[in-house]
Amino acid sequence: MDFKKVVSHCKEYGFIFQSSEIYDGLAAVYDYGPYGVQLKNNIKEYWWKSMTQLHENIVGIDASIFMHPKTWKASGHVDAFNDPMVDNKDSNKRYRADVLVEDYMAKLEGKVNKEVTKAAKRFGETFDADMYKETNPRVKGYLDKIAEIGSRLAKAMTDANMPELKKIIEDLEIACPVSGSRNWTDVRQFNLMFNTQLGNIAGEEGKLYLRPETAQGIFVNFLNVQKSTRQKLPFGIAQIGKAFRNEIVARQFIFRMREFEQMEMQFFIAPGTEMEWYKYWKEMRIKWHVALGTPEEKLRFHDHENLAHYANAAVDIQFDFPFGFKELEGIHSRTDFDLKQHQELSGKKLQYFDPERNENYVPYVVETSIGADRMFLSAISTSLQEETVPDADGKESSRIVLKLHPAIAPIKVAVLPLLKNKEELTSKAKEIYKLLSLHFPCQYDEKDAIGRRYRRQDAIGTPYCVTIDFDTLEDDTVTIRDRDTLVQKRIKINELTGIIEKEVSMSLLLAKLL
Ligand code: ATP
Repeated sequence: MDFKKVVSHCKEYGFIFQSSEIYDGLAAVYDYGPYGVQLKNNIKEYWWKSMTQLHENIVGIDASIFMHPKTWKASGHVDAFNDPMVDNKDSNKRYRADVLVEDYMAKLEGKVNKEVTKAAKRFGETFDADMYKETNPRVKGYLDKIAEIGSRLAKAMTDANMPELKKIIEDLEIACPVSGSRNWTDVRQFNLMFNTQLGNIAGEEGKLYLRPETAQGIFVNFLNVQKSTRQKLPFGIAQIGKAFRNEIVARQFIFRMREFEQMEMQFFIAPGTEMEWYKYWKEMRIKWHVALGTPEEKLRFHDHENLAHYANAAVDIQFDFPFGFKELEGIHSRTDFDLKQHQELSGKKLQYFDPERNENYVPYVVETSIGADRMFLSAISTSLQEETVPDADGKESSRIVLKLHPAIAPIKVAVLPLLKNKEELTSKAKEIYKLLSLHFPCQYDEKDAIGRRYRRQDAIGTPYCVTIDFDTLEDDTVTIRDRDTLVQKRIKINELTGIIEKEVSMSLLLAKLL
């Protein structure tokens, strides 16, 4: 669905609001509304349980947002957590230099895809896309150019070579999307960490950072957790929490926020086994997305060309957002970089005694890191659909429906008396609501015609609507309507909880991961 529609749906139905909206908002900061918070909590629960409940060797922690400032020196964030920024002198708009180049490459990729789709139509069944890409001179030209720019960009980023980044922008004649001009400033590094001051300690000594990632809270607690839980390698530590980044550009709704939430898991392993675990976590994480209903064709791996200072292998899981394939999650083989750095700066040994190898060493780490907010956006944009369905009179009508997996839907069941002004119906409905609310987040709604009430529930993704009518009073049955199939069944009130429980259960979703 169109990105604008996704954003306006989120606001209209109480999923996401701009922060401090009455003051015209704060750029790249958002608040989750009543349905948004439920959906986000459910996504987090799914992730948390898939890590800590399904793996006996993964435990959770909840570390503080503030950490000793040396943490960020050790992790490399003080010196190297920068993005290259460039301003257009005519529009005064600021951009990330690497993103300008990446967008240019994405445009070329778009041209390739267009040519391939056209050719596929022309050649029909016998069409071989790979062969076509290798032999068609125009398409091959685009692909070679993408590869050439890609490796030039990767090198410039790895070397932190700002003049070269500017040169790439100039060589490609990239223009500002707003002013259309190529009048650029020099490219400069910009550190993304927010800082604040501790108590009354002035100057550098009291400088505190808002954590830009949750991972470091895990690394500094490695020994505490390992010793207190008597874990043996391999084992993992999972954490969900806020992270803060002073992003240069913030124009893509909750895709790029200045305050966001991460779900990270650091898996501690013996040196030399990292590739095996890297492969394992790549497979596991895709499985997690697919089990939730994300179509496989909307996910792809993207290997990092310019590896971060800490990694010896890194891959993104990209999702096909309404604005194209972008990073949803990262899987990184971080070697022993972080623990070694902390060991050096703190002067404390961060080692593990391996009884099998009969030696002490600093463990290696493979991490999986996903933004809860990006995952939210991915779930909403996959499930928000507009479709034509028969209405109550059998006529065709269109509806907006959020086909979320029932296990993460914010409201599981809506209880609807057929008529508002019949006390027998409303009091029976309220009784049923009370019964169901012991088990699920429910909603009671008596306002408007039944068709409109169904549509409201469709729009927030409620998997079941239960209607109470005059037959209910006679025989203790209700109709239950399925959001996706629209099938309505008559069932006994005492069967309701069991039937719904089965469909919305997180356990069934988790079972797909075994
Ligand atoms: P990007 O290249 O898009 O800036 P990144 O590579 O810096 O992302 P990581 O440092 O790997 O991101 O962070 C791990 C995850 O945290 C990302 O995959 C993403 O889901 C999430 N994330 C990172 N930055 C943001 C942000 N500004 N807003 C929302 N989520 C974010």
